[in-house]
Amino acid sequence: MEAAEDCCVKVAVHIRPLIGDERLQGCKDCVTVVPGKPQVQIGTHSFTFDHVYGSTGSPSSAMFEECIAPLVDGLFHGYNATVLAYGQTGSGKTYTMGTGFKDGYQTGLIPQVMNSLFNTIETLKHQTEFQLHVSFIEILKEEVRDLLDSTSMSKSESSNGHVGKVTVPGRLPIQIRETSNGVITLAGSIEVAVSTLKEMAACLEQGSLSRATGSTNMNNQSSRSHAIFTITLEQMRKLHSTSPGNNSPNEDMGEEYLCAKLHLVDLAGSERAKRTGSDGIRFKEGIHINKGLLALGNVISALGDEKKRKEGVHVPYRDSKLTRLLQDSLGGNSKTVMIACISPADINTEETLNTLKYANRAR
Ligand code: ADP
Ligand code: MG
Repeated sequence: MEAAEDCCVKVAVHIRPLIGDERLQGCKDCVTVVPGKPQVQIGTHSFTFDHVYGSTGSPSSAMFEECIAPLVDGLFHGYNATVLAYGQTGSGKTYTMGTGFKDGYQTGLIPQVMNSLFNTIETLKHQTEFQLHVSFIEILKEEVRDLLDSTSMSKSESSNGHVGKVTVPGRLPIQIRETSNGVITLAGSIEVAVSTLKEMAACLEQGSLSRATGSTNMNNQSSRSHAIFTITLEQMRKLHSTSPGNNSPNEDMGEEYLCAKLHLVDLAGSERAKRTGSDGIRFKEGIHINKGLLALGNVISALGDEKKRKEGVHVPYRDSKLTRLLQDSLGGNSKTVMIACISPADINTEETLNTLKYANRAR
């Protein structure tokens, strides 16, 4: 009921400042924010979103408070959520999410999520038992890889006590499964139990470092994979009888169990495959990336379209690994925030327009 009223997908735009390279090339800032409005102008085009964070000042804490904190709060009430960073390579996705370890780590969204999570747990732990798990995977070429698995071969041998399927080193096959009550699980992925902020941050660091990067014509640090950092929060709350007339021999009214997860997704670069090198292999990867982003766009636009939703229109989750994995955390009672990251440089106008159009479909 709640979800039907306030739209389940919120879209924010994050405009990074011109970076050194762009200044050296003499690029001009071609993106304007309409003062006091969540509106972006580029050339003759104008787009309105839920929030726009500009390149001046430090938007990260405002972005966290306005867009992400409600999702963290929802976790404690049992609601799944997804945060998606979308945009071309170099637009600031990793910086915004905090999945890189050089810059932006302190102010990135994931570190802020962790802080907030542990602060809330601290205030509630006298009445509730908490369990936290973290997983960190990436999807590259429609294949799921575990970023927390440093030795996939030896791990598959030791943890099960037997040698499983022969796997390519570094490529442990992970399967996306759906339980009978619609919960999506990642069979074969590592879920690390964490009890402190430090332990959770160590997982983020480990996974970030092992994330696959490749070189393309656009940026040799570019990531062609979707990286998904997932926090699962389980709660067990003791329920006590407060009614004096209760004749039950046991005061204990049982326990309330809640489980919810938050996916924090640093999506693959949204630039078109044609911009990538002409060698066959790289081009194929480009097509696969587009498959995930295309499916995501279709899912989100189906969810955002109230009329379609009321008619019970089919949401095409099964069209890619990415949307399949996020299926139980997009739509329904789940909250979703898409952060469209853009560069203000005029040389990126075409891709920036593509990003804004994609993000616009989500509203
Ligand atoms: P992406 O992950 O989308 O490829 P990055 O997050 O790696 O992009 O950002 C590209 C470059 O821009 C990096 O050098 C990063 O430090 C810088 N950058 C991104 N966002 C900001 C920002 N808000 N403020 C300052 N520098 C930024
Ligand atoms: Mg990146």
